[in-house]
Amino acid sequence: MLRINRRRIMLTAAAGASGALLLPGAAPLARAETGAMQRDWNSGIYHFRVGDIAATIVSDGNIGGPPTVYAGDAPEAELEEVLRRTFLPTDRMTLNLNTLLLEIDGRRVLLEAGAGPTMGPEGGRLFRHLEALGLTAEDIDVIVISHTHPDHVGNLRTPDGSRAFARATVMVPQPDWAFFVESEPDLSYMPVPQDFRDRFGANIKASVEPYAQDIELYLAGAEVLPGLSTVPAEGHTPGMAAFLVHSGDDQLLLTADLAYHPVVNINEPWRPGPDRDKETAAASRQRIFDRAAAERTLVLGFHFPFPGLGHILRTDTGYAWVPANWQF
Ligand SMILES: [Zn+2]
Repeated sequence: MLRINRRRIMLTAAAGASGALLLPGAAPLARAETGAMQRDWNSGIYHFRVGDIAATIVSDGNIGGPPTVYAGDAPEAELEEVLRRTFLPTDRMTLNLNTLLLEIDGRRVLLEAGAGPTMGPEGGRLFRHLEALGLTAEDIDVIVISHTHPDHVGNLRTPDGSRAFARATVMVPQPDWAFFVESEPDLSYMPVPQDFRDRFGANIKASVEPYAQDIELYLAGAEVLPGLSTVPAEGHTPGMAAFLVHSGDDQLLLTADLAYHPVVNINEPWRPGPDRDKETAAASRQRIFDRAAAERTLVLGFHFPFPGLGHILRTDTGYAWVPANWQF
């Protein structure tokens, strides 16, 4: 990467001196563009379309943890071997936070709110990325949440306890709301230390609390907006939804937390440790992956390496993740 940039600088400098060294078709680089290399962050924004719907992946950054959490039933030696073979660290797995901004009938709709500060210091980049789009939190009309885990709702609340998205209607699956918000759930099924579970549960309640008065509850399966259907995907949580964005012949399937990382939950059949009902989650995963593979649907994985777009291929033994080409 650095080598390429240096070459670009040299070409620019040379072109500046002689005005004649650019390859055919290459535009001269503006001085401002070379200045951009001083920035300390990469793009967290990716534009594409689903038919008539403008879609933008707006990253909230990363979270992460021990790989054994995300591949809960993997034999340890086998997991380590797979991580090594795929050039991933064996002590920590990084998950992305790919929120999706849609423009539907003049409304700005965000799918998932991201983690904010609730799951570590690498989250909470959503607002700077919205700003880079010329938007603020005030510009968001609707936020649809797949399930209320903190990495999906953490940005909803400001540090002082008010609504981060002052104008937005927030939609949450009803069984999730009943389980995580209206009761004191037993989170002992989660393969993490007790203090993590306590923070996890408290962060859910705190994040959604400013919206509790007028929260809109839905049941997975409902079409919540024109062109945005929710798909039953229960198991990871009691009411988790996947999403299907559709316009004309175009479709995009969002898999929420059916899979955390394609290497361990698609290419390998391992189950996410935090799945509350592991058999139901496995059945949801298979049903939705089979459909995506058969219909060749474009898929967005909320936690997959940015931007998280690709396809699920059916193989003789299971599935394989095929990332989509980057579009400029
Ligand atoms: Zn998640």
